[in-house]
Amino acid sequence: MQDYDLVVIGGGSGGVRAARIASTHGAKVAICEEYRYGGTCVIRGCVPKKLMVYASQFHEEFVDSESFGWSSKVEGFNWQTLIENKDTEIDRLNKIYENLLDNAGVEILYGTASLVDANTISINDQTLSAKTILVATGGTPFLPEISGIEHAISSNEVFHLEQQPASALVVGGGYIAVEFAGIFNGLGIETSLIYRGPQILRGFDSSVSNHLSGEIQKKGINLMLNNNISSIELTDQGKKKVLLSDGTQMTVDCILYATGRKPNIEGLNLESVGVELGRKGEIKVDEYSKTNIDSIYAVGDVTDRIALTPVATMEGHAFADTVFGGNTRIADHSNVASAVFSQPPVASVGLGEEDAREKFKSVDTYSSEFKILKHTLTENTERTLMKLIVDADSDLVIGAHMVGHDAAEIMQGIAIAIKAGAKKSDFDATVGIHPSSAEEFCTMRTKD
Ligand code: NDP
Repeated sequence: MQDYDLVVIGGGSGGVRAARIASTHGAKVAICEEYRYGGTCVIRGCVPKKLMVYASQFHEEFVDSESFGWSSKVEGFNWQTLIENKDTEIDRLNKIYENLLDNAGVEILYGTASLVDANTISINDQTLSAKTILVATGGTPFLPEISGIEHAISSNEVFHLEQQPASALVVGGGYIAVEFAGIFNGLGIETSLIYRGPQILRGFDSSVSNHLSGEIQKKGINLMLNNNISSIELTDQGKKKVLLSDGTQMTVDCILYATGRKPNIEGLNLESVGVELGRKGEIKVDEYSKTNIDSIYAVGDVTDRIALTPVATMEGHAFADTVFGGNTRIADHSNVASAVFSQPPVASVGLGEEDAREKFKSVDTYSSEFKILKHTLTENTERTLMKLIVDADSDLVIGAHMVGHDAAEIMQGIAIAIKAGAKKSDFDATVGIHPSSAEEFCTMRTKD
């Protein structure tokens, strides 16, 4: 007899969903979390980040409003108010997560878990046994080991800065880097973004990366490409002096490293139990999220499949249905849409042009670049980009991309169409909503 049918390690999106669903399927479930229920997304990721994105957009809105007749006198921005209000909301969400688990009959545990064997977990001084163990411990920021790295912060700390820095240097060219560069810049912080490669957002459609790169520079971000930080020193005034790989130096108040995330497996004792890991330390799983050990499963960022909250939730739900609900099903990782909450935001689903040309014999692209109606009255020079990638042989739309206002909101609907197998002719046959930016997806007729 085991103590539990399922013990979940990690109280983030994937773990919480799996625990709740397994419990509602009748399993006896416990879940353990060492920090706060809600995980990276709710506590120190997507949710507080998006709240900070909202905060950082107001200044531009105040300026734009003047062209519509408003006279706005902005007294200034209070960093502490934002941080406190954001923390209140995160506390509320944290409690909601705990209530959801409680209402579903899941036993909630706090502490650092470690595997003893394939069916035994130790949590602090307690030992539990379980028929099935689910590891959903997420990821943790990766910072390269350069001299003075201890003077930099990661996305874990950025949400708790006590003072608003006057200047910031953001390192990296991925999601977190461009999002925080936009937040800092919008809040009036003198912002530089340094990326080691030739263009930010590597892996995205190159039109998207190039367009965003131009737009963020227009908004005032100092973008430094093909460059990196070699070392960091603390000055007597508490500022950070950096030596760059191009030989130049700069001094800033805050350095944020957004150089990727690694699977959070420290202390889990996975290797001694024989759980197979990949090159980056990710837990290797099959399509049912099962590891090489029959009683151990893993979902979410710790498996390094697609590091997105809704994907972890999908994997956790499919796991619970399969193992405890008598409904064997896999999580479908195809055509997962995502957004980068940069300013302007980016949203994509499916393939970028470069990837499409590698996979398909004949690819057509359609794109449109324009100024949104709102900015015909303002001095704002922001431009929007939309792009469709079509397999010319089948007419299937295999990629859609947008850089511009409301990109995430618009792309969610496009993602449904693509998931349903929409063809370019279906896009063409759809009557647009006028006047909107989104209608452009239905009116692109000329191939690039
Ligand atoms: P990403 O993998 O997106 O980007 C990491 C960046 O850091 C890349 O530009 C990479 O460069 C660079 N980098 C890596 N190592 C070094 C180094 N040693 N020195 C300098 N630069 C380096 O990671 P993020 O941390 O931005 O985000 C992690 C994941 O979290 C994302 O991939 C995404 O899945 C998820 N996420 C999703 C969000 C959303 O949905 N809106 C928001 C935030 C995160 P290179 O390209 O050359 O390798």
